[in-house]
Amino acid sequence: MKALIYNKNSNPKIALKEISKPELLLDNDAIIKVNLSSICTSDLHIIEGFVPKAKNNIVLGHEFVGTVEKLGKNVKNFKIGDRVSVNCETFCNECFFCKKGYINNCTNGGWLLGCSINGCQAQYVRVPYANNTLTKINDNISDKNALFVGDILSSGYFGAKMCEIEKNDTIAIIGSGPVGMCAMISAKILGAKEIIAIDINQHRLDIAKNQNLADFYLNPNDCNIEDEIKKITKYGIDKVIEAAGAKDTFELAWKIARPNGIVGIVAMYEENQILPLPKMYGKNLTFKTGGVDAIYCRELMDLISKNKINTDFLITHSFKFENIIEAYEFFKSNKDKCLKVAIEY
Ligand SMILES: [Zn+2]
Ligand SMILES: [Zn+2]
Repeated sequence: MKALIYNKNSNPKIALKEISKPELLLDNDAIIKVNLSSICTSDLHIIEGFVPKAKNNIVLGHEFVGTVEKLGKNVKNFKIGDRVSVNCETFCNECFFCKKGYINNCTNGGWLLGCSINGCQAQYVRVPYANNTLTKINDNISDKNALFVGDILSSGYFGAKMCEIEKNDTIAIIGSGPVGMCAMISAKILGAKEIIAIDINQHRLDIAKNQNLADFYLNPNDCNIEDEIKKITKYGIDKVIEAAGAKDTFELAWKIARPNGIVGIVAMYEENQILPLPKMYGKNLTFKTGGVDAIYCRELMDLISKNKINTDFLITHSFKFENIIEAYEFFKSNKDKCLKVAIEY
């Protein structure tokens, strides 16, 4: 079968190669025929050498939907032919962390697919702990509708859950990229009264506006964010979701949060951030950080099924699998106009 292989010692570092089809290795495994996948910023991070745990000579990719082709004998929750979305976190559901819902820290799993074991940018992929890692796609949902359930939609939802949103809360979301937009969708579902979208990329703010994802759209290039926020809310922002990870966005997040507010951080930073405790003394903020604990896939799938969530607009470009190298190039170099690509198999 064909697969996209990452090799840090070759140039370019990714190539489409012929490798053998995966086989069931353990009783909890499933073999999934990949129907549709996407490229995640984390895939680019691996290629750029920012992910130390990424193995060399591995098939990339962890955001996808497919059809169950083979099942290990302990996988009881699915049957051959089921359409499934696959969680970006592989988890055992039995360890100390899994029992508390912290599946990102599963001592037997975590982010494995497309990082430390072969991922989904291939015609077939082996998925461990399939009983937990797969989510059946409802019949009224297309592959496209379900594509982001296991990764970016879960990340946005996780960010919103982390902020313990209550009715009448004003929520600011820094970063109007795909995860930020998923956080806007999630904050609304979880009961936010007002949502403020913040980004320096006007095109992305405009997309959020077209989709009616927020109530205010602020671009730091056009206004002073702190002044604008004072006009919207007297005390500051109840809960801030930081989904940008840019140079000044962590600082902006704690500055705009009101006293006793929550700052939830889903962004991945490339540099250390400064926490100036003397300056924020008495502000009594709660900070929460995290890689996604993607435990709400079933809930999200059902919300899509009931037309409460639609992430189709995030797919701005599609490519055939045989052109996946071109898709990577395009995704990397067209951040302005490309939100997410769909790879068709
Ligand atoms: Zn990802
Ligand atoms: Zn576990």
